[in-house]
Amino acid sequence: TPLTPQQALLRAQAVLAEVFGYQAFRGQQADIVAHVGAGGDALVLMPTGGGKSLCYQIPAIVRQRAGWGVTLVVSPLIALMHDQVGALREAGVEAAYLNSSLSAEEAAAVEQRLMRGELTLLYAAPERIVTPRFLARLEALHAARRLALFAIDEAHCVSQWGHDFRPEYRELAVLPERFAGVPRIALTATADALTRADIVAHLRLEQARTFVASFDRPNIRYTIVEKRDSLRQLLRFIEQEHGGPHGHDSGIVYCQSRRKVEDVAARLAAAGLRALPYHAGLDAATRQRHQDRFLREEGWLMVATIAFGMGIDKPDVRFVAHLDLPKNIEGYYQETGRAGRDGEPANAWMAYGLQDVVQQRRLIDESAASDDFKRVLRGKLDALLALAESTGCRRQQLLAYFGEASGPCGNCDNCLQPPQTWDATEPARKLLSCIYRLQQSGGAFGAGHVIDVLRGLDTDKVRQHGHTALSTFGIGREYDETLWRRLLRQLIALGAVHVGGEFHTLHLTAAARPILRGEQPVRLRVAPAGDAAGRGGARG
Ligand code: ADP
Ligand code: ZN
Repeated sequence: TPLTPQQALLRAQAVLAEVFGYQAFRGQQADIVAHVGAGGDALVLMPTGGGKSLCYQIPAIVRQRAGWGVTLVVSPLIALMHDQVGALREAGVEAAYLNSSLSAEEAAAVEQRLMRGELTLLYAAPERIVTPRFLARLEALHAARRLALFAIDEAHCVSQWGHDFRPEYRELAVLPERFAGVPRIALTATADALTRADIVAHLRLEQARTFVASFDRPNIRYTIVEKRDSLRQLLRFIEQEHGGPHGHDSGIVYCQSRRKVEDVAARLAAAGLRALPYHAGLDAATRQRHQDRFLREEGWLMVATIAFGMGIDKPDVRFVAHLDLPKNIEGYYQETGRAGRDGEPANAWMAYGLQDVVQQRRLIDESAASDDFKRVLRGKLDALLALAESTGCRRQQLLAYFGEASGPCGNCDNCLQPPQTWDATEPARKLLSCIYRLQQSGGAFGAGHVIDVLRGLDTDKVRQHGHTALSTFGIGREYDETLWRRLLRQLIALGAVHVGGEFHTLHLTAAARPILRGEQPVRLRVAPAGDAAGRGGARG
């Protein structure tokens, strides 16, 4: 007979204390283990370090003890499987993994233990699970009612919009088809709306209950500076915040290219800092050696590409610095999230410049992706730029991106030291009226066209639609395209403009009204001298 959520929770509490030695569940863990322990499907969105593992490990143990057999955990990373299985075995839980690190004999032994019902948790890579041979084994277990639960870790790998896309994850849609009645829990630390929708659709989790934990990491202080001499700026930051060469803080410095990683690591070392490079171009032994030092000894700076970090569990990383712009907000959040997992104060510091933006745009433009995909990537890049250029609370804007409302945090650069801004209400009103007039004229248009109309450009499209006759044609001649794009990004971030539809056209929302009426000011950051995106970019 199935457990009720109440019964499942009682048993889960016993397991938490007895097996894991913890006093109490954190946040939504109790609700999740009760729901899943009782056989419900769940989608769990929880930031890194939030305690996702227990959300399936405890129901696995509870259900195994209640006679339902084994839990299968889908995991994309061998390193992660090793760590988890090692920790479970230490706690006395029968756990094993199946992946390419095992010899054929070892793998066969694990499968035997699986079929004999000796395992409580089995971790496996998705590509192994969806092989006909393995599915047949699962069917045998299912027929004997010995399949307790499917846990799908790092579920965002199913989304092609994310940076960890794994096509094999899509094939996990067979699980509910072939194993009806076996509950499923999908977990991820990536929570933007697009990824969430992808997970639900591709993993067939329409009926699952969704648990969204707060994505706030209050101990992380966010700082984003405009790039001038980024290495100097980084050295100053490490000096001021982390004691420079005499400090004992560990940190990660992310750079975009391998060459830059090498260069920056060498220059930090020359400045007396303990810095090591890490990127996929180094041989495996060197990578391992650098990683071990970083993990075991204190005070090392890892200068790395984003190849470094996933599955690395070092709680006392005191800062994460970005010398180049990440691809999007999810990446920024995930990478900065590696700082301060112990809950102690930590810094997320980034230097960004217009050059980065140009380069990221070019990478997108020149990629082999479809036009649709490129538009999504550009939209995501724009959201990140809006965050970088924001004059308001960074945390508030970051959390808003993940659908979480909050107030100013008091622990980011903009809260602690409000930036210099100028009143851009007038141009904002011009931009909004232009979108409004275009809407009234019976169409919806994308950013490029709206800006052309504002600037009074005589393009084919402008002529074709007769837009030279609009009252807003040419009312924005005094500013260049870059400024209009910056302003538009801020209006999108403020929620006054919505980008939508098949062609990613601009639409006004209710939040545009107070700005149009002049009741709500819009402020833009004063850009540094020489930056064409600033007010200096205005044409006389
Ligand atoms: P995630 O997978 O979400 O990044 P983990 O599952 O690795 O997070 O958990 C992060 C840390 O928090 C681990 O060291 C874990 O043992 C600890 N932890 C999780 N839940 C609890 C709890 N209820 N009480 C105490 N520690 C917990
Ligand atoms: Zn703030």
